[in-house]
Formats: sequence, C-alpha cells, structure tokens
Amino acid sequence: MTPTLKPVHTEADILPRWRDTPVAELLALHNLGAAARQYAHPQILIATCPEQHAPLRLPAGFALSLHTAAANLKRDPFKVSWAIGIGQASAIAIVGHTGCGMVRLRDQREEFVERMVAAAGWSRPAAEQHFDHWSDLFAVADPVAFAAAEAARLRARYPKIPVAALLYDAAGQTLLQIDA
Ligand SMILES: [Zn+2]
Repeated sequence: MTPTLKPVHTEADILPRWRDTPVAELLALHNLGAAARQYAHPQILIATCPEQHAPLRLPAGFALSLHTAAANLKRDPFKVSWAIGIGQASAIAIVGHTGCGMVRLRDQREEFVERMVAAAGWSRPAAEQHFDHWSDLFAVADPVAFAAAEAARLRARYPKIPVAALLYDAAGQTLLQIDA
C-alpha cells in the first residue's frame, strides 16, 4: 500500500495511534506551537537527515536527536537502543524530508569520485569502491516510502515502542504524518 501524507493543523488531525505518546507531543510542539513542559528525561528519539537545515521547534530536554542520511538508522543500532535503555526515550520518530538528496545519490557517483580524487587526494579505484560500498546503504528511492519502511523495521525490533514515520515539508516547515 502506498503511504499517504496526513497533515496536522489541529489536535484532531493527530492519528489516534499517536495519542498519549511523545509522537503526539512532538507534532503539537512543532506544528501547533504547543506549550513546553519540564522534562525529567528525554521523551523521544528523533532521527533526521543532516540536509534538513531548519531545526524542529522543540524545547530543551524533550528529545534525543540523531542526524543520519535520509534518517536511516540501520548503521546505528546501538545508538537507538542506548536512547531507550539509558536515555529513557519511550518513542521514536523517523523524519524524512522533501527534496532529500539521498534520492539522487546513485546518480552522483562520477561527481563524487572526481571530487575525492581532486580534493581529498584519493585514488580513483579507492573512491569508486568507497562510493559503491556506502552508497548502497544510504541511497533511497523515495523519502516517504523509506521513512515508512524504516519505522516498520524499528517497530518490529522494539515492539513496545511507538515508532512514527514523519515527513518534514521544507516549503511549509511542518511535519506531516506518513500513514502506511
Ligand atoms: Zn536528506
């Protein structure tokens, strides 16, 4: 099933499955300008792509953040578990974004190789091999479908943790819910 995007303009737009979870609070804080509380510990782990320049509107202490290409946490299993087991986060949000460059990554092989040779002093074969190894792990076909799949993967791994797939819409600077 193709995931659909559900905006949050009011509290009532928040999907029922996120009510009374830190995901609902995240959406209320960023999209609706909800008032911050005091947090005794972080409520949620938020994964965002480093290309997403505008920060989410969140109060200090609310979230733990990881920045990883296309919000892909496959390379960070222990950081995710640490956020829950030590950091006390009780939810996860995978935040993809519009215009994600990881969609074009495979088309940028030659550009990458040429720059690594000229700017970094690498040999061409080393640059090619490096790109082929790592780009497979980070390239995504579509940020929405990827965030939905990554959230599903983490839900299976952490069955009691609510894991939301969200899309940061750069034009509107709002978070959209990805309903898979
Ligand atoms: Zn991105």
